[in-house]
Amino acid sequence: MHIQRTEVLPVSSRIEVVTGAFGTGFLLPGRFLLHFFFPSCCASCGAARRGVGGGGLCRACWRALPLIDGEEACQTCALPSAAPICRACRNGASPFRRAAAVARYEGVTRRLVHALKFRGHDILAAPAGTLMAATARIRGLDQDCSAVVPVPSTSRRNRDRGYDPGALLAREVARELGRPLLALLSRVREAPPQSTVPAAQRRRNVLGAFATSRAARGTRLLLVDDVMTTGATVFEAAHTLVAAGASRVDLLVLARTPEAGPLHHDHLETA
Ligand SMILES: [Zn+2]
Ligand SMILES: [Zn+2]
Repeated sequence: MHIQRTEVLPVSSRIEVVTGAFGTGFLLPGRFLLHFFFPSCCASCGAARRGVGGGGLCRACWRALPLIDGEEACQTCALPSAAPICRACRNGASPFRRAAAVARYEGVTRRLVHALKFRGHDILAAPAGTLMAATARIRGLDQDCSAVVPVPSTSRRNRDRGYDPGALLAREVARELGRPLLALLSRVREAPPQSTVPAAQRRRNVLGAFATSRAARGTRLLLVDDVMTTGATVFEAAHTLVAAGASRVDLLVLARTPEAGPLHHDHLETA
C-alpha cells in the first residue's frame, strides 16, 4: 500500500522521499559514529551533509533541482516549450513517441551530473534514478513498456571512470518500474565525447556509433540517458533501435538543456 502511494507522488514530493533517507534532523547513535569517522559533503555545494546514505547531495540541493513541469515541455523531445509539441518536433525531428526529463540542465542539475559522470559519485545514481522513475510514471512512460534500455557510453570512458553512469541510471529506473533492463545497444566505435565536439557537428560525430541486435524487433522500449543537449546521441540511439525493428521508443533523461540545439535545425533543413 505504501509503495502504491509513493508511485503517484509528483516529482517534487518524490524529492522529499529521496531526501528522507538522510534522516529527520538528528542522527541515530550508529549513524553519528559513522558520520563522525566518515563525514560526507554535498557533491553539489560542498556543504557537510547530516547522515549518510541515500545519495550524495544535501537536502537543500535536492530541493533546488530546477524540475521540468511536464505540462510545459515538448512531449516528444522534453524541451521546455510553451506548446505541447515544439516547432522542431512538429517538423518531424524526434524519433520518440514520448520523451520526459526530470530537470533543466543548469545549476544543481549540472553539478549533480558532473559529479556522477566525472567525479566518481556513482552513489548519486540511486536517488537520481528514483526521481527519473517517478517522472516516467507521471508521464505514463512506464505503461506498456517491454524493457528499459541504457544509452551506453564508450568502453574506454567507462574504463577510465570505473562505471557507466547511464547504465547505472537505467538499472535504477528498471528496478523502480519493475521492467527488464536490456542492454540492446553497444558502441561500435570510439567517438570523441559529445561535450568536446561543437554542437553543430555532434550529429555527424555519433552517426553509426551504435549497434543493436535482433532482440529489438517488436519491442516497446524506454531509452534512458543522463543528459540530452542537442539530442544527437539519443536520436541516433533511437534510430538504430527503430531500424532494427523496435515498434516504439520513448525517452527518459535526467537533465535537458532549456534551449533547442542545432540538431533541431539540422532536421528542419533536411526534413
Ligand atoms: Zn548541497
Ligand atoms: Zn520537441
